[in-house]
Amino acid sequence: MIPQDYHVHTLHSCDSLATMAEMCRAAIEKGIPEIGFCDHFDLVPEDPCYDFFRADAWWQDLEACREEFSGSLLVKAGIEIGEPHRFPEAVAELAADHDWDYVMGSLHWVGDTLVFDPDYYQRSKYDAYADYFRELHQLVQQNSINILAHVDIVKRYGFEHYGPYDPESHETELRSLLRSCAERDIAVEINTSTLRRSIMEPSPTYKILTWFREEGGKWVTLGSDAHEPDQVGFGLEKALKAVSMAGFESLASYERLVPRLVPITNGREGQ
Ligand SMILES: [Zn+2]
Ligand SMILES: [Zn+2]
Repeated sequence: MIPQDYHVHTLHSCDSLATMAEMCRAAIEKGIPEIGFCDHFDLVPEDPCYDFFRADAWWQDLEACREEFSGSLLVKAGIEIGEPHRFPEAVAELAADHDWDYVMGSLHWVGDTLVFDPDYYQRSKYDAYADYFRELHQLVQQNSINILAHVDIVKRYGFEHYGPYDPESHETELRSLLRSCAERDIAVEINTSTLRRSIMEPSPTYKILTWFREEGGKWVTLGSDAHEPDQVGFGLEKALKAVSMAGFESLASYERLVPRLVPITNGREGQ
C-alpha cells in the first residue's frame, strides 16, 4: 500500500486541468489513504504560474473535498512555493493567512533562468548541478518551509543534456544542504515526476536519502507531482522502497504544520 501522496496539483496550478475531486477519487481508487494538495504559488514574474494561484477559491475546493471524502480519505492542505527565499514577506503573509498543513519549498529558478529551459544547460554539467544546489541551500537556510521538494529536479532535463549524473560528484555540498534540512526539521520529499522522464529514477534516489539519514534527517514524504488523475500515486512504491532501504522506518504526516512519524510496516502504514 502507498501510505500517502503529498505532491498533487490541480487546476489551481497553471499547468494542470484536474479538479481536486478527481484527484481525490483517483487516490481512493488506488487505496492511498492520505493525499496532500500543493498547488504552485510562484512569485518570479517571468514564471508561467505567476499570479495564477487564488487562495480563496482553492480553500473552497479543499473544504468541499474534505467533506465529500470524509471517512475515506485524509485531505491535507499544502502549498508548493517556488523560490520562497527570494520573497520572504509574501511567503510569510500567505503562511499566516491560512491553516496550511505543510508548506513545501521548491526551486525552479536559478538566478533568472528556469531549470526547465534549455538555456539553463548552456553551462557545464558540473555547474548546472552545483549552481542548483547552491541556491537550494540558500532556500533551506531561509527556514520558512516544512518540506523540501524534489532535491535534484535539475536532473530531469540535465539527463537529456549531459547524460547520467552521479550525486557523488556533489557529495560535500549535498551533505551540507541535507544537514541544514535536518537541523531545521525540514522533511525531504521523494518526488517521482522524474520517473515519467527519460532519467527514470526518483528525485532524490536512495544514495541521497542515505546521506540525509546520516546527517541527522528524520522526516521524509512521498510525492508523485501528479498533474493528472492517472498520475496520482505514480511510482510511489518505488520511492517507499528507497526510503526503507535508506534506513527510514517512518514517513512524516503533517497537520497544521506539525509533523508526526507514521511507521512503515512491511510496506503498510502503521497506526
Ligand atoms: Zn516543483
Ligand atoms: Zn509540483
